[in-house]
Amino acid sequence: MPIYASYAAPVPFELCGGHPALDLVNSLDNRSAPAGPKELLTDYEALLRFAAEEGLLSLQQVRGLSRAVSAAAASKVVRSTRELRAAMAVVLYSTAEKRSPTVGEIEMLERHFVAVERPRQLIWVTRASGEHPRLRWQWRADQVKAAEFPLWVIAQEASQLMLSEALGNVRECESESCQWLFLDSSKNHTRRWCNMKICGNRAKARRFQERHTG
Ligand SMILES: [Zn+2]
Repeated sequence: MPIYASYAAPVPFELCGGHPALDLVNSLDNRSAPAGPKELLTDYEALLRFAAEEGLLSLQQVRGLSRAVSAAAASKVVRSTRELRAAMAVVLYSTAEKRSPTVGEIEMLERHFVAVERPRQLIWVTRASGEHPRLRWQWRADQVKAAEFPLWVIAQEASQLMLSEALGNVRECESESCQWLFLDSSKNHTRRWCNMKICGNRAKARRFQERHTG
């Protein structure tokens, strides 16, 4: 590899899932390819970048974590994030294929979702603008600098999606060579591709070819 390659800016994540939880699942690309999947969440820096691109971490938080977190803590968090992703994928692919996950599969996910409760505190919010006061979860001040923080914000997003009605709108891309998940928020729930420009056009081109060579 030429030496300057290491200075190249990393390729941004393709966030076409329509939700951070689904984009996270898609970060293990080519899941069932014979040659094996392709890991896009390569290290802690990639995890920070992913969370920032999703708008879940500020640039300042990314810089702070990148500087402060030890290599050992960083690799532990990456491992945990991949475990969360695996637990989510099992349930999400079941849902997309209209199957019920097993009790064991749900328990695996539960472990990760329960872990997100600990670094949060319940606060009472009063607003000056005339809105009703209400309760809200907030990250504890001492926890936002923890190595696990990017994992927690993603897990929280995932639990919000997976415990909501929107779970029923999770779909798997119809392209044969793509297994990416996306949230179908189209009006009539007719979206078929993770990315119309890539998978949709590829399918259109294939149909065109079939019609003209048959
Ligand atoms: Zn696709």
